[in-house]
Amino acid sequence: MQELNQLHIMYLQGVGPKKAETLQKEIQVVSWEDMLYYFPYKYIDRSKIFTIKEIQGIAGHARNDNSMPYIQLKGKISRFQLHGEGRARRLTAQFTDDTGSIELVWFQMLKYIQNTYANPDTEYILFGKPTVFGHRLNVAHPELETENKFYDGQVGTQGLYNTTERMKNAFLHSRAIQKMITQILENTKTLIPETLPQAIIDQAHLISLDAALRNIHFPQSPEMLRQAQYRLKFEELFYLQLNILQVTKYREKRINGLRFTQVGEHFNHFYYNHLPFELTGAQKRVVKEIRQDANSGRQMNRLLQGDVGSGKTLVALMSVLIALDNGFQGAIMAPTEILATQHYETISELLAGMPIEIALLTGSTKKKKREELLPKIKNGEIKLVIGTHALIEDTVEFANLGLVVVDEQHRFGVAQRARLWKKNMTPPHVLVMTATPIPRTLAMTVYGDLDVSIIDELPPGRKPVKTVHTYEKKRGDLYNSVRKQLQEGRQVYIVYPLIEESEKVDIQDLIAGFEKTKQIFPEYQVSMLHGKMKPADKDAEMQRFVSGETQIMVATTVIEVGVNVPNASVMLIENAERFGLSQLHQLRGRVGRGADQSFCILVTKYELSENTRKRLAIMTETNDGFRIAEEDLKLRGPGDIDGTQQSGIAFNLKIANLAHDGQILTLARDIAREILDADPQLVYPQNALLAHQLIRLNKDKQMGWFMIS
Ligand code: ADP
Ligand code: MG
Repeated sequence: MQELNQLHIMYLQGVGPKKAETLQKEIQVVSWEDMLYYFPYKYIDRSKIFTIKEIQGIAGHARNDNSMPYIQLKGKISRFQLHGEGRARRLTAQFTDDTGSIELVWFQMLKYIQNTYANPDTEYILFGKPTVFGHRLNVAHPELETENKFYDGQVGTQGLYNTTERMKNAFLHSRAIQKMITQILENTKTLIPETLPQAIIDQAHLISLDAALRNIHFPQSPEMLRQAQYRLKFEELFYLQLNILQVTKYREKRINGLRFTQVGEHFNHFYYNHLPFELTGAQKRVVKEIRQDANSGRQMNRLLQGDVGSGKTLVALMSVLIALDNGFQGAIMAPTEILATQHYETISELLAGMPIEIALLTGSTKKKKREELLPKIKNGEIKLVIGTHALIEDTVEFANLGLVVVDEQHRFGVAQRARLWKKNMTPPHVLVMTATPIPRTLAMTVYGDLDVSIIDELPPGRKPVKTVHTYEKKRGDLYNSVRKQLQEGRQVYIVYPLIEESEKVDIQDLIAGFEKTKQIFPEYQVSMLHGKMKPADKDAEMQRFVSGETQIMVATTVIEVGVNVPNASVMLIENAERFGLSQLHQLRGRVGRGADQSFCILVTKYELSENTRKRLAIMTETNDGFRIAEEDLKLRGPGDIDGTQQSGIAFNLKIANLAHDGQILTLARDIAREILDADPQLVYPQNALLAHQLIRLNKDKQMGWFMIS
């Protein structure tokens, strides 16, 4: 038998070049194998046939359309009728059984449907999801079959396949996908070749790939379905882990680390004379972890997670001082100009009087200034460079860069980080800091064996931010409480959403909000900040707010990351429903930085989806960034986690779910590690299949992203 990945879907009955092209474009399915790995997104029980009376009963109890299940009915179709004109055209018909009738409706392929189902005496099995429309029920674009017969004659649990609008237009609906898969399985009489060695199959108690693929599409029983899912999830996570761990091992072996052997003058002088407050226990622990790591002979690749306001900047600075004490330069890279500038100012102040030359280098650093700075960075005179992406341009050369701190890394691309490595003969140590806590399962998958440090303690005296959710209509009360804070001398942020596609409208919203705010609070000064402003203007506006010259800051999410104004005590977020959980948490982190009670106010319209309500409820319930990140992962899925997309980390997980399959992931990881410990290059004969699979998967670019992280 030819290999399944060599057989094109065009060789299936009923699939011509056009359908094949659509499948490739829409769901990247080209070969028989691709098709077999296109799994159902849900399963339904097709053994039960409802009566129309029964579903009218269910509809009576349904809270909304989404709570209506997919159902099957058996009956006849009559009374076709066309309505409307042009794009509003639709076709309706009555579907009738012994207990009543229900309306069917189509918006596309009207002629075809009317012709196909023209005979009023034919009995059909209807499959679809009823919608409640006023007081009536209807089913849009139902699937209709003349007999209830499926693959191998089995009736029962059946898979549903995701299809896009374009696919539906090409007659590639769920049922069509299923028929293609049926054909493939029927034509594959020999066993589908195994992709895991027998030893692993035994160790993890898996069913064979052949059984798994057949049952994932056509489950023989709920138990077989569960086993099939387990096997396929395991396989997916196992190869992901095998790949990550192998690359990590290689990196560890190949790359020697710079050694920071001593803690010297700079660090000690700072610690005993400049530190404005006692470090928290967690800060001390993390500094120690970094010190040890930087003297281990390995290149440090450490992820520092600490909730907003936990004092990561200080940890970064102290790590840089250790680098300096060992004769190296340090660099701190921030995602925005505002943040880079702020770091520069904070750090200059903290180091005031110490003989350390610091430079700020961003996209808006003037040419003349750049020309003055670059040679001094190259000859090592400047010890610490703070900046944005501008830092990693090729024109910036260092004398001996020893440590790079990347703040709020989720804003940085993986490729950009890789460029940093090349700034020194021996790559510098890298400390990546983030306030978006990455859930454990995700960290394991994304970062492999990178070390993780966690600041799990806030500086003393902080009061947790109080978060409330309120509606636009209650603005009156809202402004009164905001005014109270202003009267006590506190400052206020008001944030508007900014989404790329609707940028123009959003800027208008922001400006309108700015004008309105000035009217409501005429006795106060108001600043405005958005991404489209010139960097110099942004800085100036930010400075006015930092210095207290303005009391209210109306802004987009440009202030989301890192900005530190301890006197600000209110974060008011407009259209909060448009923000993701992690983003809301970041924004909330801008307040509660001083000792005073701070508030976060989430303003939304009244009508909200269930999912959004859940998100907002989590925000009002907890300040725990880790819990929020976990919930975010559950509600949105990993592809959506803030930043993973920007960082170029694409998960192509087809079946495993990082939020729910942590246990399988751990098992897969343990087994992968065991194998690599014994055979890091996968050269043993019993590992030949693994090596072969890895090469195949990497060639498909499914895992390619990892190679550059
Ligand atoms: P983040 O972790 O969000 O980057 P920052 O480094 O901006 O937090 O610190 C937040 C605030 O806490 C700053 O005003 C900083 O000066 C203050 N801070 C940091 N460490 C301590 C500490 N150990 N004790 C008291 N305040 C601290
Ligand atoms: Mg910070």
